[in-house]
Amino acid sequence: MLAADVASSSADAGATAGPGAGAGAAGGPPPPPPPMMLPVKSAVTALSSSLSLSSSSSASSSKKPGLSLRDLIGEKQPEMEAEADLSEEQLKHSQLDLPRVQCPRCEKLVLAVNIAEHANSHSSEVVPGLFLGGMRNAHNKIELTKRTNVRHIVNVAEEVENVFEDCAVGCECSNGVEHNPPKVPHGAPAEARLFIYHSLKIKDALGEDALGLFDSTFQLIHDAIERKEPVLVHCVAGISRSASVCIAYLMRSRKWSLKLAFQHVRSARSIISPINWFILQLQTYEQRLAQTMELEGFHGQPSLTVADVYPEGTRFISTHIVPPAPIPFSIPAAAKQPEIVFDSEAKRTDSF
Ligand SMILES: [Zn+2]
Ligand SMILES: [Zn+2]
Repeated sequence: MLAADVASSSADAGATAGPGAGAGAAGGPPPPPPPMMLPVKSAVTALSSSLSLSSSSSASSSKKPGLSLRDLIGEKQPEMEAEADLSEEQLKHSQLDLPRVQCPRCEKLVLAVNIAEHANSHSSEVVPGLFLGGMRNAHNKIELTKRTNVRHIVNVAEEVENVFEDCAVGCECSNGVEHNPPKVPHGAPAEARLFIYHSLKIKDALGEDALGLFDSTFQLIHDAIERKEPVLVHCVAGISRSASVCIAYLMRSRKWSLKLAFQHVRSARSIISPINWFILQLQTYEQRLAQTMELEGFHGQPSLTVADVYPEGTRFISTHIVPPAPIPFSIPAAAKQPEIVFDSEAKRTDSF
């Protein structure tokens, strides 16, 4: 098992858990204390040992606990905790009274308390034309086409398949198998393909040399945006590897320090948390860029440290949800009746 799986599955679970998860409203046993932040040297050992975790451990750790209806109601309305045995139907009914906002990406109505978590289930637009996300976004045709109009897919996860690689322009398949029109033949030019894939497969692990990657992904993203062809950069969860690539892109394209670039990407996607190794690689990249250009916010020393991203007492891979900057959500007009997503349904469907 790769460290990537450990990192992204735990982070993914955290992203799904949302604010207030584990508050104990469901009455279960308290969760085990999170692992403390380790110095880099100890983290090498920790990550190395995590490499040997079995796949069954992966399966259980990737099971998303989510924010259950009971958690939600228990948290918002503590007096209702006594009604923990409400049926699913009754709980849905109770949710009807809670405020909802419309997701600007998929236009679904989402519980206001869940909107940050929901937003992170989509890819995040870091700068116009550059989207950062996870495998679920790379494998969601509607998200790629109708919602973001992505043309280039930069896959930086060695363990994630390029599902729509054989799709011709206009292909309406939903799964990358039953193509309509038929799949493009091997060797077909890029113009014939629905998406142009760029596979730069790296592990979310210590020792991966990302410095060369940062330069090549910069060029890819830069060229695509110049041609006004939107790009999705993804790994497994859109938290560590792909986030690092986007940070590096911003450092070079905007001439920003690592800190400024990190803050910008996190404001667009609150769950990003590059593993400490990538933070160190980005520090080196910052030093390297500073030799040839003046970086805003850089004064000779690394502008962002591992401790800045993982303050003492936080999880190694942060699962802390940072409230996003206010977005002007609109409650839809009465004439428009978007689908209401119940929390439990959102967990079961892959509609976003
Ligand atoms: Zn949405
Ligand atoms: Zn297809």
